Amino acid sequence: MATRSKASLATYQAKRDFAATSEPSGAKAKRTPRTKAPRFVVQQHDATAMHWDFRLEHDGVLVSWAVPKGPPERPKVSRLAIRTEDHPLDYIDFAGDIPEGSYGAGHVEVWDHGTYTLEELDLDAGKVHVELHGERLNGRYMLVRTKEGEDDGRRAQWLLRRLSPAEHPERAPLPQHAKPMLCTPSKLPPHLDRWAAEVKWDGVRALAYVEGGRVRLESRNGNDLTDQFPEIARMGRAMGSTEAVLDGELVAFDAAGRPSFQQLQSRLGVTSASTVRTRMKSVPVTYVAFDVLQLDGRDLHDEPYEARRNLLRAALEDGDNWQVPASHDGAGAELLESVVALGMEGVVLKRLGSPYREGVRSGDWLKVKAQRRQEFVICGWVEGSGGRGGGIGSLLLGYHDGEGRLVPAGGVGTGFTDDMLKRLHAKLAPLERKTSPYDVAPRAGARSRRPGRAAAAEHFVTPKLVCEVEFTEFTRDGTVRHPSYKGLRDDKRAADVVREEPVGGR
Ligand code: MN
Repeated sequence: MATRSKASLATYQAKRDFAATSEPSGAKAKRTPRTKAPRFVVQQHDATAMHWDFRLEHDGVLVSWAVPKGPPERPKVSRLAIRTEDHPLDYIDFAGDIPEGSYGAGHVEVWDHGTYTLEELDLDAGKVHVELHGERLNGRYMLVRTKEGEDDGRRAQWLLRRLSPAEHPERAPLPQHAKPMLCTPSKLPPHLDRWAAEVKWDGVRALAYVEGGRVRLESRNGNDLTDQFPEIARMGRAMGSTEAVLDGELVAFDAAGRPSFQQLQSRLGVTSASTVRTRMKSVPVTYVAFDVLQLDGRDLHDEPYEARRNLLRAALEDGDNWQVPASHDGAGAELLESVVALGMEGVVLKRLGSPYREGVRSGDWLKVKAQRRQEFVICGWVEGSGGRGGGIGSLLLGYHDGEGRLVPAGGVGTGFTDDMLKRLHAKLAPLERKTSPYDVAPRAGARSRRPGRAAAAEHFVTPKLVCEVEFTEFTRDGTVRHPSYKGLRDDKRAADVVREEPVGGR
Protein backbone atom coordinates (compact mmCIF):
# COMPACT_ATOMS: atom_id res chain seq x y z
CA MET A 1 0.00 0.00 0.00
CA ALA A 2 2.75 2.43 0.96
CA THR A 3 4.42 1.70 -2.36
CA ARG A 4 1.26 2.51 -4.29
CA SER A 5 0.83 5.87 -2.59
CA LYS A 6 4.46 6.81 -3.13
CA ALA A 7 4.33 6.00 -6.82
CA SER A 8 0.97 7.63 -7.35
CA LEU A 9 2.07 10.87 -5.69
CA ALA A 10 5.00 11.29 -8.09
CA THR A 11 2.86 13.33 -10.51
CA TYR A 12 1.53 15.51 -7.68
CA GLN A 13 5.05 16.24 -6.47
CA ALA A 14 6.55 16.78 -9.93
CA LYS A 15 3.97 19.48 -10.70
CA ARG A 16 4.74 21.58 -7.61
CA ASP A 17 7.60 23.59 -6.18
CA PHE A 18 7.17 23.24 -2.42
CA ALA A 19 9.45 26.21 -1.82
CA ALA A 20 6.86 28.40 -3.60
CA THR A 21 3.47 26.90 -2.70
CA SER A 22 2.06 26.33 0.77
CA GLU A 23 0.45 23.08 -0.36
CA PRO A 24 1.65 19.99 1.58
CA SER A 25 4.37 17.84 0.01
CA GLY A 26 2.83 14.67 1.38
CA ALA A 27 5.93 13.69 3.31
CA LYS A 28 4.17 13.82 6.65
CA ALA A 29 0.75 12.51 5.65
CA LYS A 30 -1.00 10.28 8.18
CA ARG A 31 -3.46 7.62 7.12
CA THR A 32 -6.78 7.14 8.83
CA PRO A 33 -6.59 3.96 10.94
CA ARG A 34 -8.36 1.07 9.28
CA THR A 35 -10.91 0.96 12.08
CA LYS A 36 -12.17 4.46 11.23
CA ALA A 37 -14.30 5.53 8.29
CA PRO A 38 -12.31 6.98 5.36
CA ARG A 39 -12.58 10.71 4.74
CA PHE A 40 -13.56 12.85 1.77
CA VAL A 41 -13.17 16.53 0.96
CA VAL A 42 -14.57 18.92 -1.64
CA GLN A 43 -12.36 21.96 -2.18
CA GLN A 44 -13.63 24.95 -4.08
CA HIS A 45 -10.74 26.06 -6.26
CA ASP A 46 -10.80 29.48 -7.91
CA ALA A 47 -8.06 28.78 -10.50
CA THR A 48 -7.93 29.61 -14.24
CA ALA A 49 -11.50 28.31 -14.19
CA MET A 50 -13.55 27.86 -11.04
CA HIS A 51 -14.01 24.19 -10.15
CA TRP A 52 -14.64 21.92 -7.22
CA ASP A 53 -12.03 19.24 -6.39
CA PHE A 54 -13.69 16.07 -5.13
CA ARG A 55 -11.27 13.82 -3.21
CA LEU A 56 -11.73 10.42 -1.57
CA GLU A 57 -9.23 8.99 0.88
CA HIS A 58 -8.29 5.61 -0.55
CA ASP A 59 -5.23 3.39 -0.48
CA GLY A 60 -3.04 5.97 1.26
CA VAL A 61 -3.80 8.88 -1.09
CA LEU A 62 -6.64 11.22 -2.05
CA VAL A 63 -8.11 9.95 -5.31
CA SER A 64 -9.19 13.17 -7.02
CA TRP A 65 -11.55 14.60 -9.62
CA ALA A 66 -12.06 18.22 -10.73
CA VAL A 67 -15.78 18.96 -11.09
CA PRO A 68 -16.25 22.17 -13.13
CA LYS A 69 -19.84 22.78 -12.01
CA GLY A 70 -19.56 21.28 -8.53
CA PRO A 71 -21.16 18.15 -7.05
CA PRO A 72 -24.89 17.88 -7.83
CA GLU A 73 -27.24 18.24 -4.88
CA ARG A 74 -30.20 16.73 -6.74
CA PRO A 75 -30.57 13.35 -8.43
CA LYS A 76 -30.83 13.04 -12.25
CA VAL A 77 -28.14 15.69 -12.72
CA SER A 78 -24.86 14.43 -14.18
CA ARG A 79 -21.83 16.60 -13.64
CA LEU A 80 -18.62 16.18 -15.60
CA ALA A 81 -15.71 15.15 -13.34
CA ILE A 82 -12.16 15.09 -14.72
CA ARG A 83 -9.83 12.72 -12.91
CA THR A 84 -6.74 14.56 -11.65
CA GLU A 85 -3.52 13.36 -10.05
CA ASP A 86 -3.72 11.63 -6.65
CA HIS A 87 -3.10 14.08 -3.80
CA PRO A 88 -1.35 13.36 -0.48
CA LEU A 89 -3.57 12.69 2.54
CA ASP A 90 -2.58 15.90 4.31
CA TYR A 91 -4.09 17.87 1.41
CA ILE A 92 -7.47 17.04 2.97
CA ASP A 93 -7.55 20.19 5.08
CA PHE A 94 -5.55 22.44 2.75
CA ALA A 95 -7.04 25.87 2.21
CA GLY A 96 -5.30 29.06 1.12
CA ASP A 97 -3.75 30.74 -1.87
CA ILE A 98 -1.57 28.96 -4.40
CA PRO A 99 0.75 31.73 -5.65
CA GLU A 100 0.72 33.19 -9.16
CA GLY A 101 3.00 31.20 -11.49
CA SER A 102 2.52 27.97 -9.54
CA TYR A 103 0.52 25.01 -10.78
CA GLY A 104 -3.17 25.54 -9.90
CA ALA A 105 -2.58 29.20 -8.91
CA GLY A 106 -5.62 30.61 -7.15
CA HIS A 107 -7.67 30.39 -4.00
CA VAL A 108 -8.66 27.08 -2.37
CA GLU A 109 -11.40 26.70 0.22
CA VAL A 110 -12.80 23.62 1.90
CA TRP A 111 -16.37 23.52 0.59
CA ASP A 112 -17.35 20.30 2.38
CA HIS A 113 -15.67 17.49 4.26
CA GLY A 114 -16.61 14.39 6.22
CA THR A 115 -16.40 10.63 6.01
CA TYR A 116 -17.83 8.14 3.57
CA THR A 117 -19.02 4.57 3.45
CA LEU A 118 -17.40 2.64 0.65
CA GLU A 119 -19.75 0.58 -1.49
CA GLU A 120 -17.54 0.08 -4.51
CA LEU A 121 -14.34 1.73 -5.71
CA ASP A 122 -12.81 0.19 -8.82
CA LEU A 123 -10.69 2.75 -10.63
CA ASP A 124 -9.64 0.27 -13.33
CA ALA A 125 -13.24 -0.56 -14.13
CA GLY A 126 -14.22 3.13 -13.86
CA LYS A 127 -16.86 2.68 -11.17
CA VAL A 128 -17.21 4.30 -7.75
CA HIS A 129 -20.17 4.11 -5.35
CA VAL A 130 -19.96 5.89 -2.00
CA GLU A 131 -22.25 7.24 0.65
CA LEU A 132 -21.03 10.65 1.81
CA HIS A 133 -21.49 11.89 5.37
CA GLY A 134 -20.57 15.55 5.05
CA GLU A 135 -21.96 18.88 6.15
CA ARG A 136 -23.37 19.83 2.76
CA LEU A 137 -23.32 16.50 0.99
CA ASN A 138 -25.15 13.61 2.59
CA GLY A 139 -26.25 10.66 0.51
CA ARG A 140 -25.17 8.12 -2.07
CA TYR A 141 -23.06 9.26 -4.99
CA MET A 142 -21.85 7.44 -8.06
CA LEU A 143 -18.91 8.17 -10.36
CA VAL A 144 -18.66 6.41 -13.72
CA ARG A 145 -15.91 6.79 -16.27
CA THR A 146 -17.17 7.74 -19.72
CA LYS A 147 -13.88 8.41 -21.51
CA GLU A 148 -10.40 6.99 -20.88
CA GLY A 149 -7.55 9.37 -20.04
CA GLU A 150 -3.81 8.81 -19.60
CA ASP A 151 -2.26 5.53 -18.40
CA ASP A 152 -2.33 6.70 -14.77
CA GLY A 153 -6.01 7.61 -15.07
CA ARG A 154 -5.48 11.37 -15.24
CA ARG A 155 -7.65 13.40 -17.62
CA ALA A 156 -10.20 10.60 -17.88
CA GLN A 157 -13.76 11.92 -18.07
CA TRP A 158 -16.19 10.71 -15.46
CA LEU A 159 -19.72 11.66 -14.53
CA LEU A 160 -20.70 12.41 -10.94
CA ARG A 161 -24.33 11.77 -9.96
CA ARG A 162 -26.33 11.84 -6.79
CA LEU A 163 -28.33 8.63 -6.25
CA SER A 164 -30.21 9.55 -3.07
CA PRO A 165 -33.20 11.86 -3.24
CA ALA A 166 -32.39 15.55 -2.82
CA GLU A 167 -31.80 16.55 0.78
CA HIS A 168 -33.76 19.73 0.24
CA PRO A 169 -36.50 18.69 -2.21
CA GLU A 170 -38.25 22.00 -1.60
CA ARG A 171 -35.32 23.78 -3.24
CA ALA A 172 -36.49 24.98 -6.62
CA PRO A 173 -34.11 24.23 -9.49
CA LEU A 174 -32.72 27.27 -11.30
CA PRO A 175 -35.07 28.34 -14.12
CA GLN A 176 -33.58 28.36 -17.61
CA HIS A 177 -35.37 31.51 -18.75
CA ALA A 178 -37.17 34.29 -16.96
CA LYS A 179 -38.65 37.53 -18.20
CA PRO A 180 -37.72 40.86 -16.65
CA MET A 181 -40.39 43.01 -15.03
CA LEU A 182 -40.95 46.23 -16.98
CA CYS A 183 -41.57 49.86 -16.01
CA THR A 184 -44.47 52.11 -16.88
CA PRO A 185 -43.49 55.62 -18.08
CA SER A 186 -44.77 58.11 -15.55
CA LYS A 187 -44.45 61.47 -13.88
CA LEU A 188 -43.56 61.58 -10.19
CA PRO A 189 -46.49 60.00 -8.31
CA PRO A 190 -48.01 61.43 -5.12
CA HIS A 191 -47.06 59.81 -1.78
CA LEU A 192 -43.40 59.40 -2.65
CA ASP A 193 -42.84 57.90 0.80
CA ARG A 194 -44.42 54.70 -0.51
CA TRP A 195 -41.80 54.31 -3.21
CA ALA A 196 -38.12 53.42 -3.34
CA ALA A 197 -36.09 55.32 -5.92
CA GLU A 198 -33.23 53.97 -8.00
CA VAL A 199 -31.20 55.53 -10.78
CA LYS A 200 -32.48 54.54 -14.21
CA TRP A 201 -29.49 52.74 -15.66
CA ASP A 202 -28.96 53.63 -19.27
CA GLY A 203 -27.75 50.37 -20.75
CA VAL A 204 -29.00 46.98 -21.85
CA ARG A 205 -31.26 44.97 -19.57
CA ALA A 206 -30.01 41.48 -18.80
CA LEU A 207 -30.95 38.65 -16.49
CA ALA A 208 -28.01 36.78 -14.95
CA TYR A 209 -28.32 33.05 -14.17
CA VAL A 210 -25.65 32.14 -11.64
CA GLU A 211 -24.88 28.49 -10.93
CA GLY A 212 -21.75 26.56 -10.06
CA GLY A 213 -19.60 29.69 -10.12
CA ARG A 214 -20.72 30.54 -13.64
CA VAL A 215 -22.88 33.33 -15.04
CA ARG A 216 -25.11 33.19 -18.08
CA LEU A 217 -26.43 36.54 -19.30
CA GLU A 218 -29.61 36.77 -21.28
CA SER A 219 -31.14 39.84 -22.93
CA ARG A 220 -34.76 40.91 -22.67
CA ASN A 221 -35.58 39.08 -25.87
CA GLY A 222 -33.80 35.89 -24.83
CA ASN A 223 -30.44 36.34 -26.62
CA ASP A 224 -27.44 34.86 -24.86
CA LEU A 225 -25.04 37.74 -24.11
CA THR A 226 -22.53 35.76 -22.01
CA ASP A 227 -19.70 35.68 -24.55
CA GLN A 228 -20.17 39.35 -25.45
CA PHE A 229 -19.41 40.47 -21.88
CA PRO A 230 -16.63 38.21 -20.55
CA GLU A 231 -15.78 40.73 -17.82
CA ILE A 232 -18.97 39.70 -15.99
CA ALA A 233 -17.85 36.03 -15.74
CA ARG A 234 -15.89 36.73 -12.54
CA MET A 235 -19.12 37.72 -10.81
CA GLY A 236 -20.04 34.01 -10.88
CA ARG A 237 -16.79 33.07 -9.23
CA ALA A 238 -17.32 35.75 -6.63
CA MET A 239 -20.68 34.19 -5.80
CA GLY A 240 -19.10 30.73 -5.29
CA SER A 241 -21.71 28.02 -5.07
CA THR A 242 -24.65 30.44 -4.74
CA GLU A 243 -27.44 29.75 -7.22
CA ALA A 244 -29.35 32.83 -8.31
CA VAL A 245 -31.32 34.60 -11.00
CA LEU A 246 -30.49 38.31 -10.94
CA ASP A 247 -32.11 41.18 -12.78
CA GLY A 248 -29.97 44.09 -13.85
CA GLU A 249 -28.52 46.25 -16.55
CA LEU A 250 -25.26 46.08 -18.52
CA VAL A 251 -23.85 49.59 -18.30
CA ALA A 252 -20.82 51.42 -19.71
CA PHE A 253 -19.75 54.36 -17.56
CA ASP A 254 -18.22 57.48 -19.07
CA ALA A 255 -15.21 59.32 -17.64
CA ALA A 256 -17.51 61.23 -15.26
CA GLY A 257 -18.99 57.98 -13.95
CA ARG A 258 -22.33 58.43 -15.73
CA PRO A 259 -23.94 55.56 -17.62
CA SER A 260 -23.28 56.13 -21.33
CA PHE A 261 -25.51 54.30 -23.75
CA GLN A 262 -23.46 55.85 -26.54
CA GLN A 263 -20.22 54.25 -25.31
CA LEU A 264 -21.98 50.94 -24.79
CA GLN A 265 -22.80 50.92 -28.52
CA SER A 266 -19.32 49.73 -29.42
CA ARG A 267 -19.91 46.60 -27.26
CA LEU A 268 -23.25 45.64 -28.78
CA GLY A 269 -23.68 43.07 -31.52
CA VAL A 270 -19.96 42.18 -31.41
CA THR A 271 -19.50 38.43 -31.69
CA SER A 272 -15.84 37.88 -32.63
CA ALA A 273 -13.97 36.91 -29.46
CA SER A 274 -10.90 38.96 -30.37
CA THR A 275 -12.94 42.11 -31.07
CA VAL A 276 -14.78 41.57 -27.79
CA ARG A 277 -11.44 41.45 -25.95
CA THR A 278 -10.14 44.62 -27.63
CA ARG A 279 -13.32 46.63 -27.00
CA MET A 280 -13.56 45.30 -23.44
CA LYS A 281 -10.32 47.14 -22.72
CA SER A 282 -11.49 50.50 -24.09
CA VAL A 283 -15.11 50.26 -22.92
CA PRO A 284 -15.45 47.94 -19.89
CA VAL A 285 -18.99 47.11 -18.86
CA THR A 286 -20.51 46.81 -15.38
CA TYR A 287 -23.43 44.60 -14.46
CA VAL A 288 -25.68 46.69 -12.23
CA ALA A 289 -27.78 44.12 -10.35
CA PHE A 290 -30.96 45.61 -8.90
CA ASP A 291 -33.20 42.65 -8.18
CA VAL A 292 -33.14 38.92 -7.44
CA LEU A 293 -35.82 36.46 -8.58
CA GLN A 294 -34.42 33.30 -7.05
CA LEU A 295 -31.69 32.60 -4.52
CA ASP A 296 -30.31 29.22 -3.45
CA GLY A 297 -33.44 27.30 -4.34
CA ARG A 298 -35.79 29.90 -2.91
CA ASP A 299 -38.32 31.54 -5.21
CA LEU A 300 -38.43 35.25 -4.34
CA HIS A 301 -41.08 36.55 -6.78
CA ASP A 302 -43.65 37.07 -4.03
CA GLU A 303 -41.24 38.54 -1.49
CA PRO A 304 -41.64 42.30 -1.04
CA TYR A 305 -39.23 44.58 -2.90
CA GLU A 306 -37.31 45.55 0.26
CA ALA A 307 -36.73 41.92 1.27
CA ARG A 308 -35.44 41.05 -2.21
CA ARG A 309 -33.09 44.02 -2.14
CA ASN A 310 -31.70 42.97 1.27
CA LEU A 311 -31.14 39.40 0.10
CA LEU A 312 -29.46 40.66 -3.06
CA ARG A 313 -27.18 42.96 -1.08
CA ALA A 314 -26.17 40.05 1.18
CA ALA A 315 -25.58 37.65 -1.73
CA LEU A 316 -23.44 39.89 -3.93
CA GLU A 317 -20.51 42.05 -2.89
CA ASP A 318 -19.57 44.81 -5.34
CA GLY A 319 -16.68 43.95 -7.64
CA ASP A 320 -14.77 45.69 -10.46
CA ASN A 321 -17.43 44.82 -13.03
CA TRP A 322 -20.58 44.36 -11.00
CA GLN A 323 -22.42 46.25 -8.30
CA VAL A 324 -25.65 46.43 -6.36
CA PRO A 325 -26.73 50.08 -6.67
CA ALA A 326 -28.27 52.13 -3.89
CA SER A 327 -32.01 52.26 -3.40
CA HIS A 328 -33.45 55.35 -1.71
CA ASP A 329 -36.72 54.90 0.17
CA GLY A 330 -39.04 57.85 -0.28
CA ALA A 331 -36.44 60.05 -2.00
CA GLY A 332 -37.77 60.00 -5.59
CA ALA A 333 -37.95 63.77 -5.99
CA GLU A 334 -34.43 64.38 -4.61
CA LEU A 335 -32.94 61.59 -6.70
CA LEU A 336 -34.63 62.86 -9.86
CA GLU A 337 -33.24 66.31 -9.18
CA SER A 338 -29.71 65.02 -8.77
CA VAL A 339 -29.78 62.79 -11.85
CA VAL A 340 -31.09 65.70 -13.94
CA ALA A 341 -28.21 67.82 -12.62
CA LEU A 342 -25.77 65.08 -13.61
CA GLY A 343 -27.27 64.82 -17.08
CA MET A 344 -28.57 61.31 -16.54
CA GLU A 345 -31.67 59.71 -17.98
CA GLY A 346 -34.05 59.56 -15.02
CA VAL A 347 -35.15 57.44 -12.07
CA VAL A 348 -37.10 54.25 -11.54
CA LEU A 349 -39.58 54.20 -8.68
CA LYS A 350 -40.46 50.83 -7.15
CA ARG A 351 -43.48 50.49 -4.90
CA LEU A 352 -42.43 49.38 -1.41
CA GLY A 353 -43.83 45.96 -0.59
CA SER A 354 -44.46 45.04 -4.23
CA PRO A 355 -43.74 41.59 -5.69
CA TYR A 356 -41.67 40.80 -8.79
CA ARG A 357 -43.99 40.24 -11.73
CA GLU A 358 -42.17 38.57 -14.61
CA GLY A 359 -42.65 40.05 -18.05
CA VAL A 360 -45.30 42.47 -16.81
CA ARG A 361 -45.23 46.21 -17.46
CA SER A 362 -46.42 46.97 -13.98
CA GLY A 363 -47.68 50.05 -12.19
CA ASP A 364 -45.42 48.94 -9.32
CA TRP A 365 -42.36 50.06 -11.29
CA LEU A 366 -42.41 53.56 -12.78
CA LYS A 367 -39.78 55.16 -14.97
CA VAL A 368 -39.62 58.89 -14.60
CA LYS A 369 -37.41 60.49 -17.20
CA ALA A 370 -35.60 63.74 -16.93
CA GLN A 371 -35.88 64.17 -20.66
CA ARG A 372 -38.19 62.35 -22.97
CA ARG A 373 -36.48 59.54 -24.60
CA GLN A 374 -37.68 56.42 -26.35
CA GLU A 375 -37.09 53.99 -29.17
CA PHE A 376 -38.10 54.67 -32.78
CA VAL A 377 -38.13 52.53 -35.89
CA ILE A 378 -35.65 53.72 -38.52
CA CYS A 379 -37.70 54.14 -41.71
CA GLY A 380 -35.06 55.69 -43.94
CA TRP A 381 -32.51 58.45 -44.21
CA VAL A 382 -32.09 61.82 -45.82
CA GLU A 383 -28.82 62.50 -47.59
CA GLY A 384 -26.53 64.92 -45.89
CA SER A 385 -24.95 68.03 -47.33
CA GLY A 386 -21.64 69.75 -46.64
CA GLY A 387 -19.40 67.51 -44.58
CA ARG A 388 -21.98 64.77 -44.67
CA GLY A 389 -22.55 65.02 -48.44
CA GLY A 390 -23.51 61.69 -50.00
CA GLY A 391 -23.87 59.99 -46.63
CA ILE A 392 -26.58 60.12 -43.99
CA GLY A 393 -27.70 63.60 -42.94
CA SER A 394 -30.60 62.53 -40.79
CA LEU A 395 -32.69 59.45 -40.03
CA LEU A 396 -36.41 59.16 -40.74
CA LEU A 397 -38.23 57.87 -37.66
CA GLY A 398 -41.48 56.08 -37.02
CA TYR A 399 -43.50 54.30 -34.35
CA HIS A 400 -46.64 52.18 -34.24
CA ASP A 401 -49.92 53.88 -33.39
CA GLY A 402 -52.82 52.35 -31.46
CA GLU A 403 -53.97 50.49 -34.57
CA GLY A 404 -50.53 49.02 -35.22
CA ARG A 405 -49.83 51.33 -38.19
CA LEU A 406 -46.29 52.57 -38.67
CA VAL A 407 -46.57 56.36 -38.54
CA PRO A 408 -43.95 59.06 -39.19
CA ALA A 409 -42.30 60.73 -36.20
CA GLY A 410 -40.05 63.18 -38.02
CA GLY A 411 -36.29 62.91 -38.28
CA VAL A 412 -33.17 63.13 -36.19
CA GLY A 413 -30.02 64.81 -37.50
CA THR A 414 -27.91 65.38 -34.39
CA GLY A 415 -26.16 63.25 -31.80
CA PHE A 416 -24.11 61.27 -34.33
CA THR A 417 -20.38 60.80 -34.57
CA ASP A 418 -18.86 60.26 -38.04
CA ASP A 419 -18.15 56.69 -37.08
CA MET A 420 -21.77 56.11 -36.08
CA LEU A 421 -22.96 57.52 -39.41
CA LYS A 422 -20.65 55.24 -41.32
CA ARG A 423 -21.82 52.18 -39.41
CA LEU A 424 -25.46 53.21 -39.81
CA HIS A 425 -25.00 53.61 -43.55
CA ALA A 426 -23.51 50.12 -43.80
CA LYS A 427 -26.52 48.71 -41.94
CA LEU A 428 -29.19 50.71 -43.75
CA ALA A 429 -27.95 50.45 -47.34
CA PRO A 430 -28.86 46.72 -47.68
CA LEU A 431 -32.36 47.50 -46.33
CA GLU A 432 -33.08 50.24 -48.89
CA ARG A 433 -36.30 49.97 -50.87
CA LYS A 434 -38.26 52.17 -53.24
CA THR A 435 -41.59 52.32 -51.41
CA SER A 436 -42.33 54.14 -48.19
CA PRO A 437 -42.49 51.87 -45.13
CA TYR A 438 -45.02 54.20 -43.45
CA ASP A 439 -48.65 53.11 -43.30
CA VAL A 440 -49.66 56.77 -43.01
CA ALA A 441 -48.28 59.57 -45.20
CA PRO A 442 -46.23 62.23 -43.40
CA ARG A 443 -47.84 65.65 -43.19
CA ALA A 444 -46.34 68.23 -45.47
CA GLY A 445 -43.43 69.96 -43.78
CA ALA A 446 -43.48 67.57 -40.86
CA ARG A 447 -40.01 66.23 -41.54
CA SER A 448 -36.91 67.83 -40.25
CA ARG A 449 -35.37 69.75 -43.07
CA ARG A 450 -32.90 72.56 -43.01
CA PRO A 451 -34.65 75.80 -43.79
CA GLY A 452 -33.84 77.36 -47.12
CA ARG A 453 -32.70 74.14 -48.70
CA ALA A 454 -34.36 72.05 -51.30
CA ALA A 455 -35.74 68.73 -50.08
CA ALA A 456 -32.75 66.45 -49.88
CA ALA A 457 -32.82 63.02 -51.39
CA GLU A 458 -34.79 60.58 -49.27
CA HIS A 459 -34.03 56.89 -49.04
CA PHE A 460 -36.59 54.51 -47.57
CA VAL A 461 -35.66 51.26 -45.86
CA THR A 462 -37.47 48.14 -44.67
CA PRO A 463 -38.37 49.14 -41.10
CA LYS A 464 -36.26 46.69 -39.08
CA LEU A 465 -33.74 48.70 -37.11
CA VAL A 466 -34.61 50.41 -33.84
CA CYS A 467 -32.80 53.42 -32.41
CA GLU A 468 -33.10 55.46 -29.27
CA VAL A 469 -33.70 59.20 -29.49
CA GLU A 470 -33.83 61.90 -26.84
CA PHE A 471 -36.17 64.84 -27.43
CA THR A 472 -38.10 67.49 -25.57
CA GLU A 473 -41.66 66.64 -26.63
CA PHE A 474 -43.94 65.38 -29.37
CA THR A 475 -45.34 68.13 -31.59
CA ARG A 476 -49.06 68.23 -32.38
CA ASP A 477 -48.49 66.25 -35.59
CA GLY A 478 -46.64 63.56 -33.66
CA THR A 479 -43.07 64.37 -34.60
CA VAL A 480 -40.18 64.75 -32.18
CA ARG A 481 -38.98 68.20 -31.16
CA HIS A 482 -35.24 68.83 -30.58
CA PRO A 483 -34.32 65.23 -31.19
CA SER A 484 -30.86 63.84 -30.55
CA TYR A 485 -29.74 60.37 -31.61
CA LYS A 486 -28.53 58.09 -28.79
CA GLY A 487 -27.79 54.78 -30.47
CA LEU A 488 -29.12 51.58 -31.99
CA ARG A 489 -31.09 49.14 -29.87
CA ASP A 490 -30.75 45.58 -31.02
CA ASP A 491 -32.60 44.29 -27.97
CA LYS A 492 -35.94 45.71 -29.11
CA ARG A 493 -38.14 44.54 -31.96
CA ALA A 494 -39.35 47.15 -34.43
CA ALA A 495 -42.90 45.77 -34.07
CA ASP A 496 -42.89 46.64 -30.36
CA VAL A 497 -42.02 50.31 -30.83
CA VAL A 498 -44.94 52.55 -29.85
CA ARG A 499 -45.29 56.11 -28.66
CA GLU A 500 -44.58 56.20 -24.93
CA GLU A 501 -46.67 58.59 -22.88
CA PRO A 502 -46.01 59.33 -19.24
CA VAL A 503 -49.18 58.55 -17.30
CA GLY A 504 -50.71 59.78 -14.06
CA GLY A 505 -48.63 61.86 -11.74
CA ARG A 506 -48.67 65.25 -10.23
MN1 MN B 1 -8.02 22.09 -8.46
